[in-house]
Amino acid sequence: MKFEDFSFDPRIEVGIKAAGYETPTPIQAEAIPIVLQGHDLLGLAQTGTGKTAAFLLPILQRLTKGPLRQVRALIVTPTRELAEQIYQASFDFGRKTRIRSTAIYGGVSKRPQETALHRGVEIVVACPGRLLDLVGDGSINLSQVEILVLDEADRMCDMGFLPDIRRIIKQLPTERQTLFFSATMPNDIRKLADTILNDPITVQIGRIAPAKTVSHALFPVPKTLRKKLLLAFLQRTATGRVLVFTRTKRRAHTLALDLAKRGYRVTSLQGNMRQSRRQQAINGYRSGKYDILVATDIAARGIDVTEISHVINFDIPDTVDAYTHRIGRTGRAEQTGEAITFAIPDDAAMVHDIEKTLKTNLERRRLPDFDYGDFDPETQFQAKSPPRPKSKQNAPKAHRGSGHKRPHRGGSKRKPYRRFKD
Ligand code: AMP
Repeated sequence: MKFEDFSFDPRIEVGIKAAGYETPTPIQAEAIPIVLQGHDLLGLAQTGTGKTAAFLLPILQRLTKGPLRQVRALIVTPTRELAEQIYQASFDFGRKTRIRSTAIYGGVSKRPQETALHRGVEIVVACPGRLLDLVGDGSINLSQVEILVLDEADRMCDMGFLPDIRRIIKQLPTERQTLFFSATMPNDIRKLADTILNDPITVQIGRIAPAKTVSHALFPVPKTLRKKLLLAFLQRTATGRVLVFTRTKRRAHTLALDLAKRGYRVTSLQGNMRQSRRQQAINGYRSGKYDILVATDIAARGIDVTEISHVINFDIPDTVDAYTHRIGRTGRAEQTGEAITFAIPDDAAMVHDIEKTLKTNLERRRLPDFDYGDFDPETQFQAKSPPRPKSKQNAPKAHRGSGHKRPHRGGSKRKPYRRFKD
Protein backbone atom coordinates (compact mmCIF):
# COMPACT_ATOMS: atom_id res chain seq x y z
CA MET A 1 0.00 0.00 0.00
CA LYS A 2 1.15 3.52 -0.81
CA PHE A 3 0.05 6.95 0.38
CA GLU A 4 -1.17 7.72 -3.15
CA ASP A 5 -3.87 5.07 -2.66
CA PHE A 6 -5.66 7.43 -0.27
CA SER A 7 -6.03 10.08 -3.00
CA PHE A 8 -5.13 12.94 -0.71
CA ASP A 9 -5.24 16.45 -2.05
CA PRO A 10 -2.02 16.97 -4.10
CA ARG A 11 -0.93 19.72 -1.72
CA ILE A 12 -1.07 17.27 1.19
CA GLU A 13 0.78 14.66 -0.85
CA VAL A 14 3.61 17.16 -1.21
CA GLY A 15 3.76 17.40 2.58
CA ILE A 16 3.78 13.61 2.97
CA LYS A 17 6.64 13.28 0.49
CA ALA A 18 8.57 16.09 2.16
CA ALA A 19 8.29 14.20 5.46
CA GLY A 20 9.87 11.23 3.70
CA TYR A 21 6.87 8.94 4.23
CA GLU A 22 6.40 6.34 1.51
CA THR A 23 4.49 3.47 3.00
CA PRO A 24 1.74 3.92 5.57
CA THR A 25 2.35 2.29 8.94
CA PRO A 26 -0.27 -0.30 10.00
CA ILE A 27 -2.29 2.21 12.01
CA GLN A 28 -2.24 4.66 9.12
CA ALA A 29 -3.33 1.99 6.65
CA GLU A 30 -6.22 1.01 8.90
CA ALA A 31 -7.29 4.29 10.38
CA ILE A 32 -6.97 6.76 7.50
CA PRO A 33 -9.82 5.30 5.40
CA ILE A 34 -12.04 5.12 8.48
CA VAL A 35 -11.40 8.75 9.39
CA LEU A 36 -11.80 9.88 5.78
CA GLN A 37 -15.21 8.25 5.75
CA GLY A 38 -16.22 10.32 8.74
CA HIS A 39 -16.50 7.51 11.31
CA ASP A 40 -15.64 7.85 14.97
CA LEU A 41 -12.51 5.94 15.85
CA LEU A 42 -11.17 4.21 18.92
CA GLY A 43 -7.44 3.83 18.31
CA LEU A 44 -5.58 1.57 20.71
CA ALA A 45 -2.06 2.57 19.91
CA GLN A 46 1.01 4.03 21.48
CA THR A 47 3.28 6.80 20.35
CA GLY A 48 5.74 5.51 17.81
CA THR A 49 3.15 3.71 15.72
CA GLY A 50 2.58 6.65 13.38
CA LYS A 51 -0.76 7.61 14.89
CA THR A 52 -0.14 11.35 14.50
CA ALA A 53 -0.29 11.17 10.71
CA ALA A 54 -3.12 8.65 10.98
CA PHE A 55 -5.37 11.41 12.28
CA LEU A 56 -3.69 14.54 10.91
CA LEU A 57 -3.69 13.62 7.24
CA PRO A 58 -7.42 12.87 6.98
CA ILE A 59 -8.15 15.98 9.08
CA LEU A 60 -6.15 18.13 6.68
CA GLN A 61 -7.93 16.48 3.77
CA ARG A 62 -11.30 17.37 5.25
CA LEU A 63 -10.29 20.93 5.99
CA THR A 64 -9.17 21.60 2.43
CA LYS A 65 -12.89 22.04 1.78
CA GLY A 66 -15.21 24.31 3.71
CA PRO A 67 -14.77 27.54 5.61
CA LEU A 68 -11.39 28.87 6.66
CA ARG A 69 -10.25 30.81 9.72
CA GLN A 70 -12.47 29.13 12.24
CA VAL A 71 -11.52 26.33 14.63
CA ARG A 72 -12.75 23.18 12.90
CA ALA A 73 -10.41 20.57 14.39
CA LEU A 74 -9.42 20.35 18.06
CA ILE A 75 -6.68 18.00 19.14
CA VAL A 76 -6.30 17.62 22.90
CA THR A 77 -3.07 16.15 24.28
CA PRO A 78 -1.66 15.64 27.78
CA THR A 79 1.68 17.43 27.41
CA ARG A 80 3.16 20.52 25.83
CA GLU A 81 5.80 18.41 24.10
CA LEU A 82 3.19 16.31 22.41
CA ALA A 83 1.14 19.40 21.49
CA GLU A 84 4.23 20.97 19.91
CA GLN A 85 5.06 17.79 18.07
CA ILE A 86 1.58 17.45 16.62
CA TYR A 87 1.43 21.13 15.78
CA GLN A 88 4.75 20.82 13.94
CA ALA A 89 3.58 17.78 12.01
CA SER A 90 0.36 19.54 11.07
CA PHE A 91 2.36 22.55 9.92
CA ASP A 92 4.68 20.35 7.85
CA PHE A 93 2.01 18.22 6.21
CA GLY A 94 -0.19 21.24 5.55
CA ARG A 95 2.57 23.58 4.42
CA LYS A 96 1.26 23.81 0.87
CA THR A 97 -2.38 24.18 1.91
CA ARG A 98 -4.06 27.27 3.29
CA ILE A 99 -4.83 25.51 6.54
CA ARG A 100 -3.38 27.05 9.68
CA SER A 101 -2.71 25.46 13.04
CA THR A 102 -1.66 26.64 16.44
CA ALA A 103 -0.52 25.03 19.66
CA ILE A 104 -1.99 26.06 22.99
CA TYR A 105 -0.51 25.13 26.34
CA GLY A 106 0.35 26.64 29.69
CA GLY A 107 3.66 27.73 31.15
CA VAL A 108 4.21 30.30 28.41
CA SER A 109 2.65 33.66 27.69
CA LYS A 110 -0.95 33.65 26.49
CA ARG A 111 -0.35 36.56 24.18
CA PRO A 112 1.02 34.84 21.05
CA GLN A 113 -1.62 32.14 21.40
CA GLU A 114 -4.39 34.73 21.57
CA THR A 115 -2.93 36.51 18.57
CA ALA A 116 -2.85 33.32 16.52
CA LEU A 117 -6.45 32.57 17.45
CA HIS A 118 -7.47 36.09 16.62
CA ARG A 119 -5.90 35.82 13.16
CA GLY A 120 -7.86 32.64 12.61
CA VAL A 121 -6.80 28.98 12.58
CA GLU A 122 -8.50 25.76 11.54
CA ILE A 123 -6.55 23.35 13.75
CA VAL A 124 -5.90 23.84 17.44
CA VAL A 125 -3.59 21.44 19.26
CA ALA A 126 -4.08 22.05 22.96
CA CYS A 127 -3.42 20.91 26.49
CA PRO A 128 -6.59 20.98 28.60
CA GLY A 129 -5.73 23.61 31.23
CA ARG A 130 -4.73 26.51 28.99
CA LEU A 131 -7.46 25.66 26.53
CA LEU A 132 -10.12 26.05 29.21
CA ASP A 133 -8.41 29.21 30.33
CA LEU A 134 -8.76 30.70 26.85
CA VAL A 135 -12.33 29.46 26.58
CA GLY A 136 -13.05 31.31 29.83
CA ASP A 137 -11.45 34.47 28.45
CA GLY A 138 -13.58 34.23 25.34
CA SER A 139 -10.42 34.01 23.20
CA ILE A 140 -11.43 30.81 21.51
CA ASN A 141 -14.69 29.69 20.03
CA LEU A 142 -15.16 25.94 19.88
CA SER A 143 -18.72 25.96 18.59
CA GLN A 144 -17.70 25.16 15.02
CA VAL A 145 -15.46 22.18 15.81
CA GLU A 146 -16.12 19.33 13.39
CA ILE A 147 -13.46 16.91 14.58
CA LEU A 148 -12.20 16.26 18.09
CA VAL A 149 -9.09 14.18 18.70
CA LEU A 150 -8.23 13.00 22.20
CA ASP A 151 -4.66 11.81 22.10
CA GLU A 152 -3.12 9.65 24.82
CA ALA A 153 -6.40 9.64 26.69
CA ASP A 154 -5.11 7.29 29.37
CA ARG A 155 -2.22 9.60 30.13
CA MET A 156 -4.54 12.58 30.36
CA CYS A 157 -6.60 10.62 32.81
CA ASP A 158 -3.50 9.72 34.86
CA MET A 159 -2.61 13.39 34.98
CA GLY A 160 -6.03 14.26 36.38
CA PHE A 161 -7.39 15.92 33.26
CA LEU A 162 -10.59 13.92 33.08
CA PRO A 163 -12.84 16.67 34.54
CA ASP A 164 -11.20 19.22 32.20
CA ILE A 165 -11.84 16.99 29.23
CA ARG A 166 -15.49 16.70 30.15
CA ARG A 167 -15.70 20.47 30.41
CA ILE A 168 -14.05 20.90 27.02
CA ILE A 169 -16.44 18.44 25.42
CA LYS A 170 -19.37 20.47 26.73
CA GLN A 171 -18.12 23.37 24.60
CA LEU A 172 -18.27 21.34 21.39
CA PRO A 173 -21.13 20.65 19.02
CA THR A 174 -22.59 17.20 19.66
CA GLU A 175 -22.64 16.64 15.92
CA ARG A 176 -18.96 15.97 15.28
CA GLN A 177 -16.44 13.29 14.47
CA THR A 178 -14.41 12.05 17.45
CA LEU A 179 -11.11 10.20 17.32
CA PHE A 180 -9.99 8.70 20.58
CA PHE A 181 -6.48 7.34 21.09
CA SER A 182 -5.24 5.49 24.11
CA ALA A 183 -2.50 2.97 24.77
CA THR A 184 -4.45 1.27 27.53
CA MET A 185 -8.10 0.86 28.34
CA PRO A 186 -8.64 1.01 32.09
CA ASN A 187 -12.16 1.32 33.37
CA ASP A 188 -12.51 5.11 33.46
CA ILE A 189 -11.07 5.47 29.97
CA ARG A 190 -13.44 2.91 28.57
CA LYS A 191 -16.33 4.75 30.20
CA LEU A 192 -15.20 8.05 28.73
CA ALA A 193 -14.82 6.48 25.29
CA ASP A 194 -18.29 4.96 25.58
CA THR A 195 -19.87 8.28 26.41
CA ILE A 196 -18.20 10.42 23.78
CA LEU A 197 -17.84 8.12 20.79
CA ASN A 198 -20.68 7.46 18.45
CA ASP A 199 -20.67 3.97 16.98
CA PRO A 200 -16.86 3.94 16.74
CA ILE A 201 -14.66 1.62 14.74
CA THR A 202 -11.80 0.20 16.80
CA VAL A 203 -8.28 -0.05 15.49
CA GLN A 204 -5.71 -1.78 17.65
CA ILE A 205 -2.09 -1.62 16.69
CA GLY A 206 1.10 -3.06 18.05
CA ARG A 207 1.89 -3.57 21.64
CA ILE A 208 -0.71 -2.28 23.99
CA ALA A 209 0.72 -1.46 27.34
CA PRO A 210 -0.86 -3.45 30.12
CA ALA A 211 -3.66 -1.63 31.88
CA LYS A 212 -2.50 -0.12 35.13
CA THR A 213 -5.13 -1.94 37.13
CA VAL A 214 -3.56 -5.29 36.42
CA SER A 215 -1.18 -6.76 38.95
CA HIS A 216 1.33 -9.20 37.59
CA ALA A 217 2.67 -12.18 39.41
CA LEU A 218 5.04 -14.94 38.58
CA PHE A 219 4.68 -18.37 40.13
CA PRO A 220 7.86 -20.37 39.61
CA VAL A 221 6.93 -24.01 39.40
CA PRO A 222 8.41 -27.21 37.97
CA LYS A 223 6.75 -28.35 34.78
CA THR A 224 5.35 -31.48 36.38
CA LEU A 225 3.50 -29.59 39.10
CA ARG A 226 1.80 -26.94 36.99
CA LYS A 227 -1.59 -28.62 36.83
CA LYS A 228 -1.60 -29.23 40.57
CA LEU A 229 -0.63 -25.63 41.17
CA LEU A 230 -3.46 -24.42 38.96
CA LEU A 231 -5.97 -26.53 40.84
CA ALA A 232 -4.64 -25.40 44.20
CA PHE A 233 -4.67 -21.79 43.07
CA LEU A 234 -8.26 -21.99 41.88
CA GLN A 235 -9.30 -23.67 45.09
CA ARG A 236 -7.76 -21.06 47.34
CA THR A 237 -8.41 -17.90 45.43
CA ALA A 238 -11.60 -15.93 45.14
CA THR A 239 -11.86 -15.51 41.41
CA GLY A 240 -14.42 -14.13 39.04
CA ARG A 241 -14.18 -15.06 35.40
CA VAL A 242 -10.85 -16.79 34.72
CA LEU A 243 -9.04 -17.05 31.40
CA VAL A 244 -6.31 -19.69 31.22
CA PHE A 245 -3.83 -19.68 28.36
CA THR A 246 -2.00 -22.68 27.03
CA ARG A 247 0.54 -22.92 24.25
CA THR A 248 -1.11 -25.79 22.36
CA LYS A 249 -4.63 -26.63 21.27
CA ARG A 250 -4.30 -30.09 22.72
CA ARG A 251 -3.37 -28.78 26.14
CA ALA A 252 -6.25 -26.31 26.10
CA HIS A 253 -8.58 -29.19 25.41
CA THR A 254 -7.19 -31.64 27.97
CA LEU A 255 -6.80 -29.05 30.70
CA ALA A 256 -10.40 -27.97 30.27
CA LEU A 257 -11.49 -31.62 30.52
CA ASP A 258 -9.44 -32.07 33.70
CA LEU A 259 -10.95 -28.99 35.29
CA ALA A 260 -14.46 -30.04 34.25
CA LYS A 261 -13.89 -33.45 35.91
CA ARG A 262 -13.15 -31.61 39.12
CA GLY A 263 -16.44 -29.79 38.94
CA TYR A 264 -15.40 -26.46 37.46
CA ARG A 265 -17.70 -24.76 35.00
CA VAL A 266 -15.17 -24.61 32.24
CA THR A 267 -14.96 -24.57 28.48
CA SER A 268 -12.13 -24.37 25.99
CA LEU A 269 -11.43 -22.45 22.86
CA GLN A 270 -8.92 -23.64 20.35
CA GLY A 271 -8.41 -23.63 16.62
CA ASN A 272 -9.62 -27.16 16.02
CA MET A 273 -13.18 -26.32 16.99
CA ARG A 274 -15.92 -25.65 14.48
CA GLN A 275 -17.16 -22.08 14.35
CA SER A 276 -20.48 -22.96 15.98
CA ARG A 277 -18.74 -24.66 18.90
CA ARG A 278 -16.39 -21.74 19.26
CA GLN A 279 -19.31 -19.37 19.37
CA GLN A 280 -21.08 -21.51 21.95
CA ALA A 281 -17.97 -21.45 24.12
CA ILE A 282 -17.56 -17.70 23.84
CA ASN A 283 -21.24 -17.01 24.47
CA GLY A 284 -21.26 -19.38 27.43
CA TYR A 285 -18.24 -17.72 28.93
CA ARG A 286 -19.58 -14.25 28.34
CA SER A 287 -23.00 -15.05 29.80
CA GLY A 288 -21.54 -16.65 32.92
CA LYS A 289 -22.48 -20.24 32.11
CA TYR A 290 -18.76 -20.97 32.36
CA ASP A 291 -16.40 -19.45 34.91
CA ILE A 292 -13.22 -20.61 33.26
CA LEU A 293 -12.12 -20.49 29.64
CA VAL A 294 -8.99 -22.35 28.61
CA ALA A 295 -7.69 -21.00 25.33
CA THR A 296 -4.76 -20.68 22.99
CA ASP A 297 -3.54 -17.23 21.95
CA ILE A 298 -4.99 -17.29 18.48
CA ALA A 299 -8.33 -18.65 19.57
CA ALA A 300 -8.68 -15.98 22.23
CA ARG A 301 -7.89 -13.07 19.94
CA GLY A 302 -10.72 -10.62 19.76
CA ILE A 303 -12.78 -12.02 22.62
CA ASP A 304 -14.05 -9.06 24.54
CA VAL A 305 -15.31 -10.29 27.87
CA THR A 306 -15.22 -7.50 30.34
CA GLU A 307 -15.37 -9.20 33.70
CA ILE A 308 -12.24 -11.30 33.69
CA SER A 309 -10.66 -11.22 37.14
CA HIS A 310 -7.70 -13.50 36.43
CA VAL A 311 -5.64 -14.28 33.42
CA ILE A 312 -3.51 -17.32 34.10
CA ASN A 313 -0.65 -18.12 31.81
CA PHE A 314 -0.45 -21.86 32.29
CA ASP A 315 2.25 -21.73 29.62
CA ILE A 316 4.28 -18.58 29.38
CA PRO A 317 3.57 -16.81 26.06
CA ASP A 318 6.07 -16.98 23.22
CA THR A 319 6.42 -13.23 22.78
CA VAL A 320 6.07 -10.08 24.84
CA ASP A 321 3.29 -8.95 22.52
CA ALA A 322 1.38 -12.10 23.27
CA TYR A 323 1.86 -11.41 26.98
CA THR A 324 0.39 -7.92 26.76
CA HIS A 325 -2.46 -9.12 24.60
CA ARG A 326 -3.29 -11.87 27.04
CA ILE A 327 -3.19 -9.80 30.16
CA GLY A 328 -4.92 -6.88 28.47
CA ARG A 329 -8.00 -9.05 28.81
CA THR A 330 -8.21 -8.47 32.51
CA GLY A 331 -8.42 -5.21 34.42
CA ARG A 332 -10.84 -3.89 31.82
CA ALA A 333 -14.21 -3.35 33.33
CA GLU A 334 -13.14 -4.57 36.74
CA GLN A 335 -11.24 -2.19 38.92
CA THR A 336 -8.50 -4.73 39.29
CA GLY A 337 -7.32 -7.80 37.56
CA GLU A 338 -4.57 -10.26 38.17
CA ALA A 339 -2.25 -11.68 35.59
CA ILE A 340 -0.54 -14.81 36.80
CA THR A 341 2.23 -16.55 34.97
CA PHE A 342 3.37 -20.04 35.77
CA ALA A 343 7.04 -20.10 34.92
CA ILE A 344 9.17 -23.18 34.65
CA PRO A 345 12.97 -22.85 34.85
CA ASP A 346 13.27 -22.92 31.05
CA ASP A 347 11.18 -19.76 30.83
CA ALA A 348 13.88 -17.52 32.33
CA ALA A 349 14.70 -15.80 29.04
CA MET A 350 11.06 -15.00 28.34
CA VAL A 351 10.53 -13.66 31.86
CA HIS A 352 13.54 -11.44 31.35
CA ASP A 353 12.20 -10.19 28.00
CA ILE A 354 8.79 -9.39 29.43
CA GLU A 355 10.24 -7.47 32.35
CA LYS A 356 12.70 -5.60 30.21
CA THR A 357 10.29 -4.66 27.45
CA LEU A 358 7.40 -3.69 29.69
CA LYS A 359 9.69 -2.14 32.29
CA THR A 360 7.68 -4.04 34.84
CA ASN A 361 8.74 -6.28 37.64
CA LEU A 362 6.62 -9.35 37.87
CA GLU A 363 6.10 -10.01 41.53
CA ARG A 364 7.46 -13.42 42.51
CA ARG A 365 5.04 -15.49 44.51
CA ARG A 366 4.66 -18.92 45.92
CA LEU A 367 1.38 -20.50 46.85
CA PRO A 368 1.40 -20.99 50.62
CA ASP A 369 1.22 -24.60 51.82
CA PHE A 370 1.50 -25.96 48.33
CA ASP A 371 3.81 -28.96 48.14
CA TYR A 372 6.56 -27.99 45.73
CA GLY A 373 8.54 -31.13 46.50
CA ASP A 374 12.27 -30.59 46.00
CA PHE A 375 11.70 -27.46 43.99
CA ASP A 376 12.37 -24.19 45.75
CA PRO A 377 10.49 -21.37 43.97
CA GLU A 378 12.49 -18.76 45.82
CA THR A 379 15.73 -19.68 44.15
CA GLN A 380 14.20 -19.26 40.71
CA PHE A 381 14.01 -16.20 38.50
CA GLN A 382 16.09 -13.88 40.57
CA ALA A 383 16.86 -11.90 37.44
CA LYS A 384 17.17 -8.18 37.93
CA SER A 385 14.63 -6.18 36.10
CA PRO A 386 15.13 -3.98 34.27
CA PRO A 387 18.47 -5.67 33.67
CA ARG A 388 21.67 -3.69 33.87
CA PRO A 389 24.44 -3.92 31.33
CA LYS A 390 26.52 -6.98 31.97
CA SER A 391 29.63 -6.29 33.96
CA LYS A 392 32.60 -8.12 32.51
CA GLN A 393 34.07 -9.00 35.88
CA ASN A 394 30.98 -10.47 37.36
CA ALA A 395 29.46 -11.86 34.21
CA PRO A 396 26.67 -14.16 35.27
CA LYS A 397 26.74 -17.74 34.18
CA ALA A 398 24.07 -18.61 31.71
CA HIS A 399 21.24 -20.52 33.24
CA ARG A 400 20.24 -23.77 31.62
CA GLY A 401 18.44 -22.91 28.41
CA SER A 402 18.76 -19.20 28.87
CA GLY A 403 21.27 -16.52 28.25
CA HIS A 404 19.59 -14.08 30.58
CA LYS A 405 19.44 -15.63 33.96
CA ARG A 406 21.44 -13.95 36.66
CA PRO A 407 23.00 -15.95 39.43
CA HIS A 408 20.74 -16.24 42.42
CA ARG A 409 21.54 -15.31 45.94
CA GLY A 410 25.19 -14.78 46.63
CA GLY A 411 26.07 -14.48 42.99
CA SER A 412 25.40 -10.81 43.17
CA LYS A 413 25.58 -8.38 46.05
CA ARG A 414 22.41 -6.62 44.94
CA LYS A 415 19.19 -7.54 46.57
CA PRO A 416 16.55 -9.25 44.49
CA TYR A 417 13.99 -6.83 43.10
CA ARG A 418 11.02 -8.29 44.78
CA ARG A 419 10.61 -10.35 47.83
CA PHE A 420 8.53 -13.43 47.64
CA LYS A 421 5.12 -12.89 49.01
CA ASP A 422 2.88 -15.50 50.50
P1 AMP B 1 4.03 8.93 15.94
O1 AMP B 1 3.60 7.59 16.52
O2 AMP B 1 2.94 9.56 15.17
O3 AMP B 1 4.62 9.81 17.00
O4 AMP B 1 5.19 8.65 14.86
C1 AMP B 1 6.41 8.08 15.23
C2 AMP B 1 7.51 8.40 14.25
O5 AMP B 1 7.33 7.69 13.03
C3 AMP B 1 7.60 9.87 13.87
O6 AMP B 1 8.95 10.23 13.84
C4 AMP B 1 7.00 9.92 12.49
O7 AMP B 1 7.54 10.97 11.73
C5 AMP B 1 7.41 8.58 11.93
N1 AMP B 1 6.43 8.07 10.92
C6 AMP B 1 5.12 8.03 11.05
N2 AMP B 1 4.54 7.49 9.97
C7 AMP B 1 5.53 7.18 9.11
C8 AMP B 1 5.57 6.60 7.80
N3 AMP B 1 4.47 6.22 7.18
N4 AMP B 1 6.78 6.46 7.22
C9 AMP B 1 7.90 6.84 7.85
N5 AMP B 1 7.94 7.40 9.09
C10 AMP B 1 6.76 7.56 9.72
